[in-house]
Amino acid sequence: MPSEPIHHHIPFNKPCFEGKELVYIAQAIGAGHISGDGEFTRRCQQLLETELGARKALLTTSCTHALEMAAILLDLMPGDEVIVPSFTFVSTVNAFVLHGARPVFCDIRPDTLNMNEHLLEDLITPRTRAIVPVHYAGVGCEMDAINAIAERHGAVIIEDNAHGLFGRYKGRPLGSFGAMATQSFHETKNITCGEGGALLINDPQYIERAEIIREKGTNRSRFFRGQVDKYSWVDLGSSYLPSDMLAAFLYGQLEVWQSVQHRRRLIWERYREGLSGWARENGAQLPFIPDHCEHASHMFYVILPTLEARQALIAHLKRRGITAVFHYLPLHHSEFARKRGFDTNPCPVTCEISDCLLRLPFYTALTKEEQHRVIDVMREFQCEY
Ligand SMILES: *Cc1c(COP(=O)(O)O)cnc(C)c1O
Repeated sequence: MPSEPIHHHIPFNKPCFEGKELVYIAQAIGAGHISGDGEFTRRCQQLLETELGARKALLTTSCTHALEMAAILLDLMPGDEVIVPSFTFVSTVNAFVLHGARPVFCDIRPDTLNMNEHLLEDLITPRTRAIVPVHYAGVGCEMDAINAIAERHGAVIIEDNAHGLFGRYKGRPLGSFGAMATQSFHETKNITCGEGGALLINDPQYIERAEIIREKGTNRSRFFRGQVDKYSWVDLGSSYLPSDMLAAFLYGQLEVWQSVQHRRRLIWERYREGLSGWARENGAQLPFIPDHCEHASHMFYVILPTLEARQALIAHLKRRGITAVFHYLPLHHSEFARKRGFDTNPCPVTCEISDCLLRLPFYTALTKEEQHRVIDVMREFQCEY
């Protein structure tokens, strides 16, 4: 009797290698510069500046740290407010709270799952200092509307672009809309060096101080450029620059970003084609991409009709050797938000999406065969709702 073929497990994520990472790390070591701001850091920053049109890109040790730098640059005073989505990673909010801000949570749109720009105006107060849009799944937030509101009220926009590297909104790169934007090169992101990030600065008034904050509060960058004859302690700061060995790894991925994005786009399209019929029959929702957005192929999710259906599908996939995972828990309902008494704005869409959303295995090296298996196993599942 023929037996079932034995399938290997399909993880949710897997770090992918493009081939030159080790070669470049060896070069960084050979050049005798493995601390921060070496040749590979320079190359990564230049590539980001060129491709995204940023006035300045600074590599950081993480997206979390880039967000913290942005928070320090805002000079927040106690009681200052920062508007953030509740449906996001902790760091989007924590970085600002760490530096004195009070978070004001904004609900998301049910279609793109991005900050709902129609709710923003009502959340603005005289204490609003910044708005932090997160381009969920690499789909652009409605930046025209968000920009207009921010301008009207003198709020600074800081884009958390961890998902959105190389995505576009109305033809313009995500990360180019805010005064600043942050990137993540964590293992789970499209382009990675394990742990890493970048601060993109579009408003030049922040550049000089950002370099100082990143270098422990010293003007060391200016010293190395010969602009001052000694360096000293001039401001607040910390150590936010990564080793050039990590930048070398990162450059091995960044220099082939178009190829990475192309492969991820094919994976994304294959999921959509393979699952649209199943979604229709089962009352599930697939990602919505507005015509004016070019998404970054960061993830593929499905939204089930109920929490029970979502949990049953996770269990079904797990039994068949496939790991699929839910995503953010509403931050406005988190233990910490309650303990601190952060605002109690209801965010009903955030709560519903958090219950019903499921992310499918997605990594650059996901093979066609693996993907077909995921799609087949998904199609076996019938939703009773
Ligand atoms: C991954 C992620 C972060 C944090 O990135 P790190 O580089 O791990 O600090 C922040 N915001 C969002 C939206 C993310 O997805």
